[in-house]
Amino acid sequence: MNNIFDTHCHYDDHWFDEDRQEVLDRVLGDGSVVSFVNHAATDEASALFGIENAKKYRNYYTSVGFHPEFASVLPQDWEAKLAELYEKAKATGKLTAIGEIGLDYHYDGYDRDREIEVFEKQLVFANEKDLPVIVHSRDASQDTLDLLKKHGSRGVIHCFSGSAEVAKQALAMGFYIGFTGVLAFNNAKKALKALEVVPMDRLVLETDCPYMAPPPFRGQRCESPMIAEVVKVVAAQKCLTEQQVCDQTCENAKKLYGIEL
Ligand SMILES: [Zn+2]
Repeated sequence: MNNIFDTHCHYDDHWFDEDRQEVLDRVLGDGSVVSFVNHAATDEASALFGIENAKKYRNYYTSVGFHPEFASVLPQDWEAKLAELYEKAKATGKLTAIGEIGLDYHYDGYDRDREIEVFEKQLVFANEKDLPVIVHSRDASQDTLDLLKKHGSRGVIHCFSGSAEVAKQALAMGFYIGFTGVLAFNNAKKALKALEVVPMDRLVLETDCPYMAPPPFRGQRCESPMIAEVVKVVAAQKCLTEQQVCDQTCENAKKLYGIEL
């Protein structure tokens, strides 16, 4: 197996503090099953991390954007910051998307109105720049879909956790669906049902690492090569070889992120 595109990773997470360099060299080096990774930015520091590594590694790409988790604590000039980060990332020639952005209703303490406001402004920004969006949606499927529809957005619903019905709606709007190691969990019934309705040309794979390590690595720090476990699940359900799954999802990811090589 080779040619894996990890469409969503967070190597800036503190879980990699001890050996980040070593991990990136290994994951992105010759002989790795991974061909490309895309950094999903969550705030300013995270976007700068992505930009630095996009300059450093041939096969490392990055997005810029503000995660809903930070909607209530953004600096006043966050929109100017976003524009600045966009310019910096664009200059690397490796900017893929605006993300990760979205809605997270999981925790009670979050200010939903503020999340919606920040999300919408970034959807407008992505449209202005003709970029796809990387969407984080947790316990907020309907509001997310409504806003994506309202703005005619395109992109990917990452770490898909919705029902098959929600997947169908996102697909009808032209979105790609990103699956993580969750697909390989023992209790992944809902995710497998959603996978059933996703055609092979609209599927992308991701780790969301360091989170969501699939079995047999569950509970450990996740790294991009562990996507191989997700590939096995997809290959079995779609009656394809593992290599076919890698090649097709890699092609999809390039199309999604506008990468022409
Ligand atoms: Zn993420």
